[in-house]
Parts: sequence; structure tokens; C-alpha cells
Amino acid sequence: MEKIKIGISSCLLGEKVRYDAGHKLDRYIADTLGQYFEWVSVCPEVEYGLPVPRESMHLVGAPDSPHLVTVKTGVDHTEGMLKWANKKFRELEKEELCGFIFKSRSPSSGIGGVKVYTSSGMPSKRGVGIFGGVFMQHFPLIPVIDDGRLHDPSLRENFIERVFVYKRWKEFMKKGGLIRDLIIFHTEHKLLILSHSPKHFSLLGQLIAGARRYKPEELHSGYIRLLIEGLRLIATVKKNTNVLLHAAGYFKKLLSADEKKELLEVIENYHRGYIPLIVPVVLIKHYVRKFDEPYLKKQYYLNPHPLELMLRNHA
Ligand code: SF4
Repeated sequence: MEKIKIGISSCLLGEKVRYDAGHKLDRYIADTLGQYFEWVSVCPEVEYGLPVPRESMHLVGAPDSPHLVTVKTGVDHTEGMLKWANKKFRELEKEELCGFIFKSRSPSSGIGGVKVYTSSGMPSKRGVGIFGGVFMQHFPLIPVIDDGRLHDPSLRENFIERVFVYKRWKEFMKKGGLIRDLIIFHTEHKLLILSHSPKHFSLLGQLIAGARRYKPEELHSGYIRLLIEGLRLIATVKKNTNVLLHAAGYFKKLLSADEKKELLEVIENYHRGYIPLIVPVVLIKHYVRKFDEPYLKKQYYLNPHPLELMLRNHA
């Protein structure tokens, strides 16, 4: 499998670029995700021109428009960092990134929950790092996460799922983005989208139904914007259960009474939180193979990412 290009804060790969010349190597990122992702490493502070080691910095001012300032000497690096970021974006646009993993809590790289020291003296935790913030504005469709959230199983799953969908979207666009291919793309992602947001699945369906009314650019940007918005919503147990029951319906006439009972029991046990999602999914995949079920075998919901990533394994 071709590796997927993902941007990453350099220190998470073990590069000694932090203010104290240390790193924040994350083994899960480097060893597990590294088997599938090709990293594009970015350290805003060093690439902007600061030395290693250097004086530490923090955010000060209003939480929605803070400044990046050195802690002891009070030097303001906001403008310089923003200028550098704009140049860097031109470079990153060529990289075709399908995701970005940021270092949490960093005044430069953080994407949420960064401390901002306000005039009241009380830090607010509503800040966004200077580079992380402008990156999300410049690349609103690229899935992002930080290393803190990456260790929450459902947020991790959600991020990785979006990365793989975004990669497939880029492949679809490279093939020309034809309406007939968009219909196939949409059909093959049906169960996956439903597991996140039935509302977005229906809105996307309406967009495709009227596809010929739009210019291709409008259709593509409208579709991917809505799709990413829907996929950001967490696939809850309730939504997954509905999708599993829907998939089980394809075997109504094919399974024996015992097999049907067993499949419904497995789905019910997942619904009650006794077993992880991977269990009913594996059983459904078994029946898909056994009966060569043509519709389900193309559904990305049953194979959204490599099994080796051990996602969907938590109850
Ligand atoms: S958090 Fe960002 S700016 Fe700080 S060392 Fe890591 S990559 Fe560099």
C-alpha cells in the first residue's frame, strides 16, 4: 500500500527541536502509524529561525487573537511566525497532505486548549497555537488532531477514518472527478457516512441528485465540505448499531434461523457495551465473503482502515 502523506510536529517524531533541546517522541505515532503514513515533519519555531535551545514562549492577550511572546524577555514573534507560515503553506500545498498531527498545548503548534495568559493574570485554556490556528484556516478540509486527542480511542478512530476518506477523495479527483465516479464514491461510503451522520448522508444525496445543475468545482467543493463536516461527528454506539442492523438485513434470506439469531445477538451485545465494534463487523464480513454479497463487499465501513491499526477494538 502506498503510504499516505501526513504532516506532523517534528518533536513527536523524536527530533530534538524543543526549546530545551528535547523531543516528545510518541511511539504509537512513530512505530504504528509510521507503517502507513509518510511524515512531512514541520517545526514552526525552528523553521521560522529560532535556535535550539531557545527561550520558551507562551500565548498572551485575548484568547481568540493571542500573541506569541517569549516568557522572560517578552519578545513578540507573532508577526514573524505568521509571515513564515504563509510561505510554508505554499510548500505544503504541493505535498498533498491527507492529515496533520500537531503537538498538543504548544503556543506555536497547538490546535486547541492552549493556555493564553490574559491581562487578568488568569490563563484561559481556549487558545490555539499561532501556526496550528492559521494552518486550519488555510487547509480547512485536511483532518487534524493533536497527540493528546490521538490517545482517545474514539477521536483517534475518527481522525484515521477521515484521513483514509480524504486520501480516496484525492484519488477520485485525480481521476477527473466525473459525476458517475462521484455516485460510486458516495455509494461505497454510504454505511460509513451513516455511522457518523445520517443527516449529512441525506444532504450529500440531495447534492448528487442535482449534480448537473452545478459547475464541477461547485459540486466537488460542496460535496467534500459536507462530507468532512459529517465525518467530524463521532460514530456513536447508537449510530453504529443502526448501520450494523441495516447491513444484517442483506442476509435476511441467506442465513439460517440460528445464524440470524447469533448475528443479532452479537449486534445487541455491542449495543450494550459488552463487546467492541470489531466483533459484529468481523462476523458481517464473514457473511459478506461467504455469500459474496456484492453491495456490502464494496462498503468502506467494513474496511475503513488497515486491521493492523487495531481500531474499533474498544467496548
Ligand atoms: S511543539 Fe511545534 S514548535 Fe514546539 S518543538 Fe514541537 S514542532 Fe517545534
